[in-house]
Amino acid sequence: MVDREANDNLKALLRKVFGYTSFRGQQQQIIEHVIAGDSALVLMPTGGGKSLCYQIPALVRDGVAIVVSPLIALMQDQVASLRQAGVRAAFINSTLDYETARERESGMVAGRFDLIYVAPERLTTEPFLERLDQTRLALFAIDEAHCVSQWGHDFRPEYRQLDILESRYPSVPRVALTATADAPTRDEIQTHLAIPKSGVFISGFDRPNIRYEVVAKASARQQLLRFIRSRHSEESGIVYCMSRKKVEDTAAWLGTQGVEALPYHAGLDKRVRSTHQERFIKEEGLVIVATIAFGMGIDKPDVRFVAHLDLPKSLEAYYQETGRAGRDGLPSDAWLTYGYGDAVLIRQLVERSDAPLERKRLEHRKLNALLGFCESAECRRAVMLRYFGDTVSERCGNCDTCSNPVETYDGTTEARKALSNVYRTGQRFGATYLADVLLGASDGRIRQNRHEQISTFGIGAERDRNSWLSVYRQLVAAGRLDVNPDHGGLSLSKTAWPLLKGEETIRLRRDPKPVRARGKAKPTGGRSVELVLGSENERALFDLLRAKRLELARAQSVPPYVIFHDRTLIEMAKDRPRTQEAMAAIVGVGEAKLAKYGDTFLKLLHPDPDTDAP
Ligand code: ADP
Ligand code: ZN
Repeated sequence: MVDREANDNLKALLRKVFGYTSFRGQQQQIIEHVIAGDSALVLMPTGGGKSLCYQIPALVRDGVAIVVSPLIALMQDQVASLRQAGVRAAFINSTLDYETARERESGMVAGRFDLIYVAPERLTTEPFLERLDQTRLALFAIDEAHCVSQWGHDFRPEYRQLDILESRYPSVPRVALTATADAPTRDEIQTHLAIPKSGVFISGFDRPNIRYEVVAKASARQQLLRFIRSRHSEESGIVYCMSRKKVEDTAAWLGTQGVEALPYHAGLDKRVRSTHQERFIKEEGLVIVATIAFGMGIDKPDVRFVAHLDLPKSLEAYYQETGRAGRDGLPSDAWLTYGYGDAVLIRQLVERSDAPLERKRLEHRKLNALLGFCESAECRRAVMLRYFGDTVSERCGNCDTCSNPVETYDGTTEARKALSNVYRTGQRFGATYLADVLLGASDGRIRQNRHEQISTFGIGAERDRNSWLSVYRQLVAAGRLDVNPDHGGLSLSKTAWPLLKGEETIRLRRDPKPVRARGKAKPTGGRSVELVLGSENERALFDLLRAKRLELARAQSVPPYVIFHDRTLIEMAKDRPRTQEAMAAIVGVGEAKLAKYGDTFLKLLHPDPDTDAP
């Protein structure tokens, strides 16, 4: 049984320091577990609220909490947020000069901090450990704990040395936190950091505030521009592309169209990269166009969209990349353009790889899951969550296929025509050519190849070109057609034959015409906040508050969101609190922030005409 008084105390602390009224999901359970001195592995999706799971125990337990964080930007951000909330937090990392670092270490030993953030490579040095030996320790928090995993994509050798925490400080609880962890990674973290089974807390993967949408690729750039203008004007977002060149071209082009965008990829000078990342974090309404080199260590809560102009590597990667949107829980978009060329390219890449058979089979499985997601006529969220092993409801109501149900039809005849056409033309052409043969087009190449004489010439004249391209795309995506790794020509796979022989049937999707999603979307000037802010007045007020926040942030050289999250400003604009007490009831306004900013924002909400007059 939970102690009633302890429970009230925790709630009071949550209110006082962070300005929140209730715990989310398993937060309270985890917090109580750690306060009691037990170690935990916390697996929650991005934006789930992992930080509180160690920050509150850090405040409640005696001593200093040591937080292991892999990236400097990440720790600086977290520390800035905590300090705004009045918490005694600091980081010790390579950006500090020797004197300051030593001073902070002494402060740690003397218990002048509640939380100290360090990189793993510093933590595990003997001199630092000796300082820790002299420190009263509240707990260890290991952020991004999947970096322990040798098989994972973010492996950090320094994380392997963290097993010293258990051997050297067996009575100090360890809290490992991550958003990525399939079962093997999970086991690895658990074993390596010696976390008992009873301390494993796993939440589902769902990110309900993210709207998933896959758009049939026509003119990708224009589609992207329309998407940004109609739904995310002046909002922050990330656009992912596969190649460095495309990153640069797209960023430059968006700029000419009036969308402020910066490129980011591994080929750029290190200084340029960090300036761009810094600007993205500290400014509002900036778009980053990036390769997947960008993203880890971005804690920015108000990324309103993640758009993909090319397919991600896998569904796991897609989940992780899109997961960077909407950490603050406000409506956000995951938007992907996808077409025949993408399906072919990605199959070619897998074909080309000379990985061992076992590995290749795995790659095929991952690829099929990704293409299945793109081609699905079902709820996108359901497809994704099922892949991760979550139990799900059939329709989420917040994805493209839920809001505009996709029609499917018995495509057996079409598929047979399309496949037999591949066979008759010698299994070496791409979809455009194949579609032309089915349509009976008069084309120089077709005549040259004498393909007007084959039996499939003109047998598809009842449909248009686009719908044949759609059939071919779906057959490639479903693996009924193989793609030649060199020239991209299509050939029949093993699974094509049962269809051809009439032993199997197939359902195909009728690609929807591009629709203006979300009711009254405007051609330009649309923003996410309009989904939560009702009136023109509220919106104007929100903009006013936002401008003030930016001004305050600049003066202190911190990101705007560490002052207040959008959610807080939205609530202020809607409720228009008049008094300090009413202000204190707004989400995200704890004691320290109330004292620091309460008056400033109250004045904005209720300007007094008498005193403001000149
Ligand atoms: P994660 O580390 O899991 O990605 P964070 O700890 O950064 O997530 O939390 C995500 C967002 O949710 C933050 O803006 C945080 O302030 C907010 N948050 C966390 N817990 C609560 C809560 N109990 N009530 C309201 N907001 C919360
Ligand atoms: Zn759905």
